[in-house]
Order: sequence, then structure tokens, then C-alpha cells
Amino acid sequence: MPRKKYIKAERSRKLEKEMLTCTLCGFCKSVCPCFEDDQWDPSVARGKVILAYGLSRKEIPVDESVVERLYQCTTCKDCERRCPSNIRVVDIVEAARADLVEAGCILPAHKKVIENVRKTKNPYGETRVVDFGLPVRKADIGYFVGCTARYRQPEIAEHTISLLTKLKVDFTLVNEVCCGTTLQRIGAKEKDYVRLMKANVDAAKKLGIKKMIFTCAGCVRMFKEQYPKYVDVPFEVEHLVQFLAKQDLKMRPFPKRITYHDPCHLGRHLGIYDEPRKVIQMIPEAKFVELAENKEAARCCGGGGGVRAADPKAAQRIASRRVKSASDIADIMVTACPFCVSNLRLGNELVKIDIEIKDIAVLVDELLVA
Ligand code: SF4
Ligand code: SF4
Repeated sequence: MPRKKYIKAERSRKLEKEMLTCTLCGFCKSVCPCFEDDQWDPSVARGKVILAYGLSRKEIPVDESVVERLYQCTTCKDCERRCPSNIRVVDIVEAARADLVEAGCILPAHKKVIENVRKTKNPYGETRVVDFGLPVRKADIGYFVGCTARYRQPEIAEHTISLLTKLKVDFTLVNEVCCGTTLQRIGAKEKDYVRLMKANVDAAKKLGIKKMIFTCAGCVRMFKEQYPKYVDVPFEVEHLVQFLAKQDLKMRPFPKRITYHDPCHLGRHLGIYDEPRKVIQMIPEAKFVELAENKEAARCCGGGGGVRAADPKAAQRIASRRVKSASDIADIMVTACPFCVSNLRLGNELVKIDIEIKDIAVLVDELLVA
């Protein structure tokens, strides 16, 4: 990256008026997981708004520290909940990131992610074929596995397939590629993720899918909120928890204390809070316990928004605080996103709390009576 330069910042410029409504009150400090981690003002929402404004007005030149700070955001949206000016911080951060990438200012880890998706259609750069033993065929219901469940947490995909089979759902897998969330979060070029959107929608259309089920919070948010801005989505989009909440689930008794971590992209971004709780409460003899910070106020796991790729240590520290908050209250921490499962487990390597961290699909399938 050149040592000092001013950039065009066309996307950020469109949000300048909104940036000017930041009163610098600092309410965002109380919730930002990145600020909590390093306690430095440029890491909090208002610091990023100032940086984005400075880039847009050509008052701040880009250097490595500016790029690093703008990538210290998990896109968790918690600051927006606290912001009295209703500033769309995530949109501002993502616009500034897209401007940086457009100008060729990108962190090496994110450059690698973009290259991986271009070459292999997944952010991990995996070339393996993962066979879940199901043919891709015409069906009304599709299961979109997502890259993290496919390549990093396959037990989530396996248990989802198993539980849908036990529930006698006529479903198919899809010839899917990455949903594009990572690319969009880190500011990759629009054409790169729109290409993926088109490929996924075309693959679903060919199979006649009327409803697509997801186990990843990032994927489902993409299809629900972002895809319709770029492509026609001619099928219903549902997270597995929404599907399961409507079923009469017969599960074995499980006399343990269970808590639930709300993934930011499922909770604050899509407002899905009640369904996972309803599913957990269907488990006989289980005691559901809420974390102190739950639903709209849930703390982030720390992995999203490209933070895990760019700064895995920070992602781990943030996750460790979330896991610690469950100590003493629960035997098992359930969530509904493979990326959260992965990051929370990473966090627990630091604090070593005696708690199981599990995806809800795995737990339900283990208990479901066929
Ligand atoms: S809460 Fe909103 S208005 Fe207050 S400092 Fe943060 S971004 Fe600015
Ligand atoms: S979206 Fe989350 S990580 Fe990003 S600035 Fe707001 S609170 Fe911090």
C-alpha cells in the first residue's frame, strides 16, 4: 500500500450528511466489542465515522493505521441500537471499506479471502469436494449449507440433514457457491459478490426450490436482506430455527441448563429472537437460562465483519468474554450459526470455561426422536 494518499471515497460521500449527525456523545462506547477489546477511540463507532468522514472529505490520507481501524468492526450493529442519532454505522463502515478496496488499500488477509472466492468460490480457498451423501435434485425445499458448515463445521450440516430427514422433509442440497457475505462485509467489489448471488439463485431456480433453509446467520441475512437489492429471489428464505419453531418436535429429556447466544446477523440484523428460544424450550426437562446480555442487547462473538481473518487474536479475546459471561449459569451454550460456534470455541481456548458450545441443529438432532 502507498504510504500516504487521498482516495476518491465515492460511496462514503453519499453518507456524509448522516456522518455529520454524530454528536460524539460516545454512547456507542458502552457496547462496541472492538472498543471493549482495545479501549482506543478510533475503534469505536464514532471513531470510524470520523475516519470515514475524513476520507470522504480528503481531510485524512489513507495509511495502514486508517485501514486497520476501519476493519476493526465486526458489523455487529450494537452501536446502532445505542446511537441517539440513529446513524447507520455498519453502512458507513462498509462504504468506507469499499472505497478503500476500490483504491487498492486492503489488508493482506482480506486480499487472500477475495482471491480465494474468485478461485474456489469459498473464502477458505478449499478445493475439496465435501460429499454429504445426498443427491442434488428437484424439490420444493432446499438446504443451503454455507461455506463454514461445509468446510469447517461439517457436523452442523450432517445433523441438519439428519434432522430434516427424521422430520420427513422432502429437501435437496443445492449446487451452491459462497453466499458473498464475507466479500460484501470487507468491501470487495460489487461485481464479485453479485456474480455469486446470481449463481446461487440460478442453481435454486433450476431445482424448482420454493423455500430455502439456512443454518448460517451470515448466509440467511445475505439472502433475506442483501440479495433482493441485486437479484430477484423467487423463493422463501428461512433460518432453520424459524422452520423448527413451527414443528412439533419430539425430543428426549435433557436435564441441563441451556443458554443461547444470539448471532448478530440473525438477531440485530434480522430480528430473529423468539424462534430459537421456542425450539430450546421444547426440550423436555431442559432449563433455559438467558445470558445477562441477550436478544437486542446480545454481545457479539467477535468473529464477523472480517475481524476473524484480519485479527484472529482480537476475535478470540472478544469471544472469550462472551463465553465467560455464560460461566456459572449454563452447562451448554447454544447458538444458530457455524461461524459463531467456531469463534466461541476459539474464545473458550483462552478462558477454558467448563461449558459445551454447540449449534442448535446439532443439539436438536441429537435429542430428536425419529
Ligand atoms: S452513539 Fe452515535 S452519535 Fe453518539 S458518538 Fe456514537 S456514533 Fe456518534
Ligand atoms: S457495528 Fe459493532 S463492532 Fe462495529 S462499530 Fe458498531 S458496535 Fe463496534
